[in-house]
Amino acid sequence: MQKAKTIGELKKSLYKGVSVRDEMRANLLRKLAVGEPLFSGIIGFDDSVIPQIANAILSRHNFILLGLRGQAKSRILRSLVTLLDDSIPFLAGCEINDDPLKPLCRACHERLAEMGDDAPLDYLRPEDRYVEKLATPDVTIADIIGDLDPIKAARGGHALSSELTIHYGLLPRANRGIFAINELPDLAGKIQVGLFNIMQEGDVQIKGYPVRLPLDVALVFTANPEDYTARGKIITPLKDRIGSEIRTHYPATLEHAMAITAQEAWTERNGSSKLVIPQFIKEIVESIAFEARQEKRVDKRSGVSQRVPITCLENVVSSAEYRAVKNHEDKTVPRPCDIYTAMPSLTGKVELEYEGEMRGADSVVRDIIRQATARIFKKYYDDVSLHSIVQWFELGGTLKYSPNASAEELNGQFKKIQGLLEQTQRLGIKAKDDPTLLAAGAEFILEGLAALRRISRNEEMGYYVERPRGESPSEQTSPVATHRRRSLN
Ligand SMILES: [Zn+2]
Repeated sequence: MQKAKTIGELKKSLYKGVSVRDEMRANLLRKLAVGEPLFSGIIGFDDSVIPQIANAILSRHNFILLGLRGQAKSRILRSLVTLLDDSIPFLAGCEINDDPLKPLCRACHERLAEMGDDAPLDYLRPEDRYVEKLATPDVTIADIIGDLDPIKAARGGHALSSELTIHYGLLPRANRGIFAINELPDLAGKIQVGLFNIMQEGDVQIKGYPVRLPLDVALVFTANPEDYTARGKIITPLKDRIGSEIRTHYPATLEHAMAITAQEAWTERNGSSKLVIPQFIKEIVESIAFEARQEKRVDKRSGVSQRVPITCLENVVSSAEYRAVKNHEDKTVPRPCDIYTAMPSLTGKVELEYEGEMRGADSVVRDIIRQATARIFKKYYDDVSLHSIVQWFELGGTLKYSPNASAEELNGQFKKIQGLLEQTQRLGIKAKDDPTLLAAGAEFILEGLAALRRISRNEEMGYYVERPRGESPSEQTSPVATHRRRSLN
């Protein structure tokens, strides 16, 4: 159907303007009826957050998402545009997207008086109808609602109090769309009052002049739950006008979390060598976030964002890429050591409690990686005896290599440890497989044993087993020597 180009044409069509919240409701109902996913790309919220958002929209509520950082709150709000119509008409030239049949602004009224049915129309796409603002304490009424513009007044010969002299802020510009304010509690009290007045009556005061703007806007917000519930952070009448409070959460299962990370992390790169990320690497990286969220030295109120595993995995892949290119390997396979190399992607993202601050982010993050490794290692090897491997170290064997050593070099060393390479079968790796995968699997076993403290590892020594006091390593460099000595005791 041809889109109407003028008011006159529009009047002859079937068009009747609906409010944005009715429009969202109608589109939501249609999606539900045909079984279309409501918000694509939002993982792990199907049984919790999404039904609550759907209810809020069906109820035509303004709503707020309460959650810690990195819980996809902004992403959910942005995806609300999928509930808007493909295209809606507005009066061409209007700064606040006026409905052609029910214009609010004075400029449109004047244009209609002048041009009548010939007044031209323009169209808005869904993405034009989403306005987002991060609340900070320095956001002003002028930013959000508007200001009187003396220059506009002088130029047009209008009184300063005339509506024609308003320079509109973000909220009027979101008219007939969605206005999202992130971190609502950071908004100054008087702006909250302004928002409330708009929501309540469509009335605001700009520099003391009352302005009537019955805007049609779906207001959505986000906040950290603790800030939102703190007394005095949100003015009560505003809270009262927010129809639904919806709690978000971190992914409940490792599987959901890994699916999110797989979707968000930049891993498909156009490098010269083929990337293969072993499953256990993905699992450890993901477990880091789970462990960090339980770690008592990490600040619970601030949370551990899903961006932690996402950026970590990106760095892990880069570290493996670096090594593969340096060693001219045709496969890029991340190994557990790459997770430690990825620490710069982690240390800045966890807020520490006092005790953690004292120990330093580096040390806390190392502990967390070790816990994550132990958790995943137990998943694969809990019921397997790895005694022969541990014994090799107990008998004085040590293993040290550079994180950038080639797979070939590693496998040469790993071969000396009886049973080590064979045990990678548990991980679905076979000895005849690619040597890079084999090296990654064997290193995972050593890292797992180190994480469970059955063997030790540090920067200077590599993998080893602590000897009793008085025994200097120089006396017994070979396992045989250790063995002899022990059997004499
Ligand atoms: Zn207008």
